[in-house]
Amino acid sequence: MDMNVSQLLREPIGSTRDYAIDEVIDITGEGKNENRIKGACNMIRTQRSILVRCNLNTELELSCSRCVNTFQQPLKIKFNEEFYPALDVDSGAPLDPPEESTAFTIDEQHTLDLTEAVRQYFLLAVPMKALCKKDCAGLCVKCGKNLNLGKCDCPPENIDPRWARLADFK
Ligand SMILES: [Zn+2]
Ligand SMILES: [Zn+2]
Repeated sequence: MDMNVSQLLREPIGSTRDYAIDEVIDITGEGKNENRIKGACNMIRTQRSILVRCNLNTELELSCSRCVNTFQQPLKIKFNEEFYPALDVDSGAPLDPPEESTAFTIDEQHTLDLTEAVRQYFLLAVPMKALCKKDCAGLCVKCGKNLNLGKCDCPPENIDPRWARLADFK
């Protein structure tokens, strides 16, 4: 997701660009996934940087925390990040690196690469307990059958003796 921003860096503070995004990246970085990213980004020239605002969505293959089946989880992200140029675009002189070492940078060729920021934000958007559907029935703890596909033949759980009498009463 490389953008050449040399022109934008030469423009006055407040100049903007809009980009429509439709690209494939590997969000997990494991080399086995290809994730199509769609949405829009806007870039604004600030005094020291380029402020990038993005609104993006994708689908990521996850495995359900209850039934272990894999499924496609839609994910949406929205972020603002500053990207700091390594060189002054006119003089070519090196600029001081940003104070935070984790800040995003624009390389010596004035290429702003969105990939790492987009990956990080999508990874943050992954739910801690992914579910294939809200009411996923999960696996039977005894026989391991996927209960979304129907009941298993295991006997029902033992009823708490305090409630057993009530059950008899019925
Ligand atoms: Zn499930
Ligand atoms: Zn069972």
